[in-house]
Amino acid sequence: MAAPKIITMLREIGVEVDDVTLKILNMLERKENISENIVAQKLKLKINGARKLLYKLSSLGLVTYTKQKDPDKKWWYLYYWSLDKDKLKDIYLQYKKAQLVKKEQLLQEERKYTFECEHCGKKYVYEDALENDFSCPDCGNILVEVKPTETILRLESEINNLKEEIGRREKVEHRLKTIKDNKRKIEDEKEELKLERKKKRETKKRTEERAIARKKAASLLPPNKDKSGSKTKR
Ligand SMILES: [Zn+2]
Repeated sequence: MAAPKIITMLREIGVEVDDVTLKILNMLERKENISENIVAQKLKLKINGARKLLYKLSSLGLVTYTKQKDPDKKWWYLYYWSLDKDKLKDIYLQYKKAQLVKKEQLLQEERKYTFECEHCGKKYVYEDALENDFSCPDCGNILVEVKPTETILRLESEINNLKEEIGRREKVEHRLKTIKDNKRKIEDEKEELKLERKKKRETKKRTEERAIARKKAASLLPPNKDKSGSKTKR
């Protein structure tokens, strides 16, 4: 199954977005980041208007921004906005998990009444049926086991689907995290190697400099100092 579109995900978790915001989300989805000037231009909005909508998305945790000084205008900043896809996926996953818990509770509730009287239609929990020797306390008819209701069947299938989807999403997330971690590890190792090489170069340079300094110092000494010293004694 293909991943649901952002808008479907948002609607499902109960976030309603207007048409303009939807257009902004679609723009952000295709780019790493977009300046709000472009957003405003493309949607024929004032910059402040675009920024207001973007801030709203940011308050939902769906977008992030970085700001940079505008090279053309002093005291003015350019804002670049990005869709936080990981955050959105995480919000969606949490929502699905909450849904699962809710449906499991409903199912438990629905399954509580395991016996019914086919004569008067009353339902009983197992303990009550047992206490009454499996006959209806109201009309005396024999109690029979309740067949799974439509609701139970529906809940069971919804729960299965949710579990499957959550499992799939978690697997993908885990895989992405492993890839990210490995990438970072490689970067760290590279950085370390670079530092080590730099250190080696510096040590080598210092050793060379010392050697040169020693040579220079030696050349400045008066020649045959010892011999001339002995000469003066004579
Ligand atoms: Zn009855």
